[in-house]
Amino acid sequence: MIEKTYCEEVKPELDGQKVRLAGWVYSNMRVGKKIFLWIRDSTGIVQTVIAKNVVGDEVFEKAKKLGRESSVIVEGIVKADERAPGGAEVHVEKLEVIQAVSEFPIPENPEQASPELLLDYRHLHIRTPKVSAIMKVKETLIMAARDWLLKNGWHEVFPPILVTGAVEGGATLFKLKYFDKYAYLSQSAQLYLEAAIFGLEKVWSLTPSFRAEKSRTRRHLTEFWHLELEGAWMDLWDIMKVEEELVSYMVQRTLELRKKEIEMFRDDLTTLKNTEPPFPRISYDEAIEILQSKGVNIEWGDDMGADEERVLTEEFDRPFFVYGYPKHIKAFYMKEDPQDPRKVLAADMLAPEGYGEIIGGSEREDNYDKLVQRIIEEGMDPKDYEWYLDLRKYGSVPHSGFGLGVERLVAWVLKLDHIRWATLFPRTPARIYP
Ligand code: ATP
Ligand code: MG
Ligand code: MG
Ligand code: MG
Repeated sequence: MIEKTYCEEVKPELDGQKVRLAGWVYSNMRVGKKIFLWIRDSTGIVQTVIAKNVVGDEVFEKAKKLGRESSVIVEGIVKADERAPGGAEVHVEKLEVIQAVSEFPIPENPEQASPELLLDYRHLHIRTPKVSAIMKVKETLIMAARDWLLKNGWHEVFPPILVTGAVEGGATLFKLKYFDKYAYLSQSAQLYLEAAIFGLEKVWSLTPSFRAEKSRTRRHLTEFWHLELEGAWMDLWDIMKVEEELVSYMVQRTLELRKKEIEMFRDDLTTLKNTEPPFPRISYDEAIEILQSKGVNIEWGDDMGADEERVLTEEFDRPFFVYGYPKHIKAFYMKEDPQDPRKVLAADMLAPEGYGEIIGGSEREDNYDKLVQRIIEEGMDPKDYEWYLDLRKYGSVPHSGFGLGVERLVAWVLKLDHIRWATLFPRTPARIYP
């Protein structure tokens, strides 16, 4: 690896020192006999100054033609200068062009391009500073989650992606040929995590989940990263506490470590700072009342989609829970509410500012007969869930769990207008390339 100074290290304190930068041309502006060549790397942007009388005519002419994203190595002396971004610039003595580029398909301000262009050229778009910032925030949220989970006694496990059964319903399954049989891409690791709690009690995994979503919303991808937890001996109220503590830690830690990146997207950090537990909790019944009072056409028993959830988030300046959903709109494995058999012990966590569901969680049905009955009610065949039903035969215990959509959390933290910007190469119904 070549020895280099990273752009973020070029500071006024280095005044007078010689550095070598290696990166890509961010912008190129000539003013008389000087060229202001901004160089970008993974850490930031530095202004370098190329003077004709220092580098000579030939190099100066070459530098003039360097388009955006040309790859270069420059050596020069750091000069503190208030006018330069970061308070320091580099006066170039030597310029080495690795590859000159004449025209880069993405404009300097990518927001001036259409989303279609950015997605067609996503392989080039991802090198722009704001996309790097999104990826750093995502990385830090996951790092923080890992940190919290380790400190709190949760075991990481690695469940399969090739599976045979539906978790979230057959309609969104991706089916593929598996030798002379068929298999599916996992929609959720949940059933496997449930099996793992009998050995490890508190388990989690981070895997891709796949859903053939037909709905074209701002919050659905066909492939997303799913952070799932499952804990033995926990009821719904216990797992909600885990959820709020985990999300709080992830967001607070990321605010500390990635403030600069977050501020590239948000002026107002209030909702992120408002993540000290406990989060507000409202029942599904209350949610329906709120929606009706705001003129939304919804009845008890209806599912809430992105539109209804958006209206509900107007009532909160922080993440909040909705619990106690009707049974018939939720998955078969959720435990019936012993107080009210029309309901299940389920809760979603909704992010404010219009974002809505980021977590779906519940207490799981731990009774063999009830689970069989639920599977039949849903029109499925208990034979397909034999191994899963076994878990209710051999030392069944109360347990609860949840799934958090990583890109949904990123989208809220950075106030992105669409979930597709929260992932490196988004997969949506219309797009699987690049
Ligand atoms: P929605 O109601 O938005 O369709 P869901 O209730 O089907 O979501 P769950 O089955 O509860 O989702 O999955 C757990 C979490 O996974 C969700 O809370 C969400 O954060 C995330 N998630 C689910 N589907 C998607 C998707 N298609 N793209 C991105 N994230 C998703
Ligand atoms: Mg869904
Ligand atoms: Mg939902
Ligand atoms: Mg859900």
